Amino acid sequence: MPIRYDDDARTLALSVRDLLEEGAPTGHLVVEIAQTRAARLAAGRAAHVEHQDEQTDRDAAYRAEVRLKHQIAVGDWTVVLHGRADGVTEEDGRTVVEEIKSTALDADQLHGTKLSDWPGYVGQLELYLWILHQAQVDLPVGRLVLVSLLDGSKHVIGVPLDAERTGRFVAARLAEITAARDRRIAWMRWRREAKVPIPHDRWRRGQREISEAVLWGLQIGHQILVEAPTGLGKTAAVLHGVLQYALARDLQVFWATARTTQQDGVERTVARFAAAGLAVRTVVMASREKSCLNTVVACRPDACRFARDYYDKLRERDLVHTLVESRRTSRQDLRTAGTDAEVCPFELSLDASEHVDLVVGDYNYAFDPGVYLRRHFGEDAGRWIVVVDEAHQLVDRAREYGSPRILAADANRAAEFLWADPDYRAFAELAEEIAGLVERTARAADGARRDGAVVCTLPKKELASFVLRLDAVAMDYALLRARRPLAGVGERDPW
Ligand code: SF4
Repeated sequence: MPIRYDDDARTLALSVRDLLEEGAPTGHLVVEIAQTRAARLAAGRAAHVEHQDEQTDRDAAYRAEVRLKHQIAVGDWTVVLHGRADGVTEEDGRTVVEEIKSTALDADQLHGTKLSDWPGYVGQLELYLWILHQAQVDLPVGRLVLVSLLDGSKHVIGVPLDAERTGRFVAARLAEITAARDRRIAWMRWRREAKVPIPHDRWRRGQREISEAVLWGLQIGHQILVEAPTGLGKTAAVLHGVLQYALARDLQVFWATARTTQQDGVERTVARFAAAGLAVRTVVMASREKSCLNTVVACRPDACRFARDYYDKLRERDLVHTLVESRRTSRQDLRTAGTDAEVCPFELSLDASEHVDLVVGDYNYAFDPGVYLRRHFGEDAGRWIVVVDEAHQLVDRAREYGSPRILAADANRAAEFLWADPDYRAFAELAEEIAGLVERTARAADGARRDGAVVCTLPKKELASFVLRLDAVAMDYALLRARRPLAGVGERDPW
């Protein structure tokens, strides 16, 4: 659950996890390439519950899923910090808090790990201990229970309470979070009071009507389709209407484009608004590939220095806020900032996009079911207005999104490559089965052809079963990567 703010009452409620992760987290940037999703989650949950059941059977004092809460004053904010410990019990007169985590390491690897290898989990546990300590529980101790999903082995590491250090950490993080919120409140106030100027000396013919129609459509919740000749100034007129609505209601605008040249046009229009007195915060998102400063797109701390310590570098310079508040978020600005601070410009644009009035980016970031920005268009999509530039282009894109293609030749090539390594057997089998399904379906098709290809529909049931299999293979992949990390930048990743 995200942090819950009540700005008028100056209160906020956040979980221990929020405290650890909100704003710039710490450490490296790691872009996950394997989505283990359901299979990984289910396996982790099962290991978790199994351990709790065992503990409950052998220890009458053991309580699972114990809620913890502590209230703190930070400046004029009242903060409620809450969490849920996996297990709490009493041993030798002391309170013991358990945190259970599943891992893809086997017994040997797992037992070779120590506290410093699990900073995130330890941080969580230390916070639980600190909350209990604030509630006058005398010297509670922590127990990090690591369960291997490979062989079921367990490794238990003790975590001591360090009330002073944890207290300092809590105070520093809450000071950052409340300061960021105060900055946001000031930004929202500025937005609500902002007057949106006409970005030219005077309206051109038709522009005022477009701006008014856009504003009216937003006010009554209608989609508006604007069609006007090239050169009329549609971008300025639409932006004028959209900004009036968005700024007054704490909403952000995503300007979705099909081509980079459209993005350049929006940037020029934003500059005109700035010259007329309204400097909106804008970020233009280039693709990961175009933004990349590394020799090869390999978003891992061991392969890219711009991913290494990414979050720590952001935090040290307060980089995101410095850039957005100074309006230095053009593509070139982000590249320059990325080069100077040695951080990834693409990730920087993503992080900056949370703090700007206008985000300009490709259709894919809003509409592609595979790559849309979940941080914006997931659960919290209601805070965005999406403008679709050259909307007629979206039709073909949408067809592509809704018509994924599987080529038997690609699947066969993948299988051939994967069979060469015994570790990839499960992947090779899946690739072969996919190729087989495509070939069988094509042979059984009634002969309709388009552009030399057989037109047929793949059986939905079998496709659905492949999705589940893919999920399971993704889990295998995560386990394999844990056992055998990629050696370096040059090593090909079959995923
Ligand atoms: S600089 Fe390139 S390789 Fe590094 S994190 Fe960014 S996109 Fe990935």
